Amino acid sequence: MMYVGIALILCSLVYSILVITIFQLKPHIKSVETNIYKLLLFSNLFNLILELGCFATISQSSTIPILAAIVSRLFLISLLIWNILFSIYVFGIGLSQTKKEKNILNCLYVFEIVSFVIATIIVAIVPLNYFYEKKTMYSYGLSADFITLIFVINLFLSLLVGLSKIKTIKIKKLLPLFLLFLMMGLCVIIRTIEPGLNILSCIMAFVTLFMYFTIENPDMKMVQQLNIARDQADKANNAKSEFLSSMSHEIRTPLNAIVGFSQALSEEDIPDSAKEEVKDIMSASESLLELVNGILDISKIEANKLEIINNDYKPKEMLHDLVALTKARMGDKNLDLRIKFDETIPDVLYGDKTRVKQIILNLLTNSVKYTKEGFIEFKVNSVIKGNVCRLIVSVEDSGIGIKKENIEKLFTKFERLDEHDNVTIEGTGLGLAITKRLVELMNGKIVVQSDYGVGSKFTVSIDQRIIKMKEENVEVKEVVNDDNYSDFSDKHILLVDDNMLNIKVAERLLKNYNVNVKSLNNGFDAIDIINNGEKFDLILMDDMMPKLSGVETFKKLKENSNFSIPTVILTANAIEGMKDKYLKEGFDDYLSKPIVKDELNRVLNKFLKGSN
Ligand code: ADP
Repeated sequence: MMYVGIALILCSLVYSILVITIFQLKPHIKSVETNIYKLLLFSNLFNLILELGCFATISQSSTIPILAAIVSRLFLISLLIWNILFSIYVFGIGLSQTKKEKNILNCLYVFEIVSFVIATIIVAIVPLNYFYEKKTMYSYGLSADFITLIFVINLFLSLLVGLSKIKTIKIKKLLPLFLLFLMMGLCVIIRTIEPGLNILSCIMAFVTLFMYFTIENPDMKMVQQLNIARDQADKANNAKSEFLSSMSHEIRTPLNAIVGFSQALSEEDIPDSAKEEVKDIMSASESLLELVNGILDISKIEANKLEIINNDYKPKEMLHDLVALTKARMGDKNLDLRIKFDETIPDVLYGDKTRVKQIILNLLTNSVKYTKEGFIEFKVNSVIKGNVCRLIVSVEDSGIGIKKENIEKLFTKFERLDEHDNVTIEGTGLGLAITKRLVELMNGKIVVQSDYGVGSKFTVSIDQRIIKMKEENVEVKEVVNDDNYSDFSDKHILLVDDNMLNIKVAERLLKNYNVNVKSLNNGFDAIDIINNGEKFDLILMDDMMPKLSGVETFKKLKENSNFSIPTVILTANAIEGMKDKYLKEGFDDYLSKPIVKDELNRVLNKFLKGSN
């Protein structure tokens, strides 16, 4: 009979190893259920190994009795561990819904822990007897009886939980429990007939194998399908963001031409009616540009590519610019712009100036857009704590206000409120969505208070590190709108751009300065002409050129140690932080396309005035 027992254990061992291998190799969900199952698998493996150990050591117990005592005691404990794990598994799937159930579950866990500790102590100290005769072998005594008792209690408790929950949990999950119960009955019958044939660990192996089919596969399949669906959705979303981003980029190039030519045309001697129309073209193209920039920002936000690029900046200068821009936006609207800037705003802060400016400008632009008459109050307070300055910016207006029920929708992209009433006001519904995201990226807060028909107040608070509280000789620069073109007829500019339309626009804008322009449509020719000794006072270089980009051309030019011509990069790449990147490459300045007249003026005056 002993050999039948050993053969059964060996078979179970092979199965057990197979199941463990499959379970480890196959991807599975990490849940409490699978974790307990994993423990069950290993505890069963130890049961089988220890039982084989029992056969080996008990048969030799007359020579090394201590070994038989240790191995057979360990075997009893490992049986108990499997039984406790199995019960915890059943309790866990049955009792985790209501608070009351959770309390019962906790009591059961305590019972399991206590019974395990007591059983371990009893098994360790109470003597264990062995029967080894005529090729029949088993152990008996108080320890074995106590383990059997706990085993039976656990089995009945599990059955109680299982049956009480039979309607609410999937029957499939309870099948291993019923199987164990049936097989235990069988085990008792077999042992009364043949006490030497102990098939308990084989039963456990069988139940553990059976459980593999009741816990694993369907869930995993669903998770895999969900993962595939999520990957596809992510891919589609990325494709959309990339499409939007590249489209916006493509749109900027022709827009460059429209803005440039209409700007140039507006300064020509043309009839007044045509001047009016050119002005409209300019304002329409500016709105279009704003929209394209908004789409670029949103697609970057969605692709998680929008970065906050911090640098030292002068907040007072930025606020001054913002006031000038708001005044320009107000045009001839009858609005009272009230400005209240805190005296304590530090002179130099560390942060992303362009984005901070974008946030505030959006609030100011909205208040101008949505206020017909009355006032706009632009207030900036600073609260200083250590080396951090909390900028609290509020923009209040006496405009149309926002209905209570609409406040939640405010920050949703493409959401415009009261579309019906606001049809005449230009907008896309992107501004506040971008603003909110930018504020969040800076770990700041934005709040809205509004009374419909009375007015709104947007408040933003952002923390910025203080670099310098007071700077000597700070003078806030007035925004000079120098409408006069300097005469640079003795100067020479090299213009490099692969796009003919861009060249035409730039040439047209430069015509006002009487400057001599040599235009080339690739970097190779630019390198040749300069290395051949032709003299220029300034190079305007496009970056995105095929074969040899602006940056690469510039690098090649710099290889010549005599090269010292100031070089300004032109780019439609509106990504923030690009300016710093280009300056680090060694470019002397940066002009973004569409080229804005004031910016061009600044660059030309900077590099051509006074140079000989
Ligand atoms: P846009 O102004 O381009 O439509 P925004 O995202 O900036 O998009 O604003 C979303 C909506 O919030 C606007 O369409 C407008 O209805 C409302 N809104 C924003 N600012 C104000 C304000 N100061 N007063 C009244 N309504 C506002």
